[in-house]
Amino acid sequence: MQKGEFVYEGKAKRIYRTEQENVFWMEFKDDATAQNGLKRGTIGDKGIVNAEVTRRVFQYLQSHGIPTHLREQVGERDLLVDGLAMLKLEVVMRNVAAGSLVKRLGIEEGRTFAEGIVELYLKDDDLGDPLINDDHALALGLATAEEIAAVKALGRKVNSLLQAYFLAADLVLVDFKLEFGRRGNEIVLGDEVTPDTCRLWDRETRQKLDKDRFRQDLGGVEEAYQEVLRRLVASHA
Ligand code: UDP
Repeated sequence: MQKGEFVYEGKAKRIYRTEQENVFWMEFKDDATAQNGLKRGTIGDKGIVNAEVTRRVFQYLQSHGIPTHLREQVGERDLLVDGLAMLKLEVVMRNVAAGSLVKRLGIEEGRTFAEGIVELYLKDDDLGDPLINDDHALALGLATAEEIAAVKALGRKVNSLLQAYFLAADLVLVDFKLEFGRRGNEIVLGDEVTPDTCRLWDRETRQKLDKDRFRQDLGGVEEAYQEVLRRLVASHA
């Protein structure tokens, strides 16, 4: 498969066409942004880690019945994916309090929830991706009631699968963001699952091994990304 015409550049990825209709080439960049684009930098070899982590995670999810856009890995930072009509929604799953939830609800970081929490955000950079509920999503025409229910059910299922997947690598899955799209009548997981889009803490020390190291200037950013991949490879041969 050849990388064809350039289609789109996002904050962390570039998308190209391929010779096959509705199959796209997703190239993972080393660029990193935070605070809705205010903070910019690069994380060495992040694209390589993130392509490989997404490929491994999506293959695992697919093998457990979650439909994803992944077709195959075609380069160290390149995946082939199905084109999806993306929903303008971000689905965040939370198991442990961190990030915006700590500020919004005034609770301490690290509090573990008995059940995973599902949140919906409107995908709109100009508005800073505001938190919305099901009724807002429906009223804004972002998805049908059935699609919203499907997205939330898939979010919960992915959460329980990935909690186990990361725990086997001695990583606590604190929270993460998913994006879904339509492929025909089916709701399919798209985008990526990486240390950019997940909070992952060491199970014992609770050391942060994710993009919070970049967001909070904690140092050791590259090393943390490499460590996540190393552990996934070691725990899931
Ligand atoms: N997240 C993401 N993209 C976004 C917003 C959040 O990947 O545009 C991820 C983030 O990495 C974390 C989870 O979603 O794992 C929850 O993020 P939160 O709402 O706490 O926002 P943040 O603190 O990242 O601003």
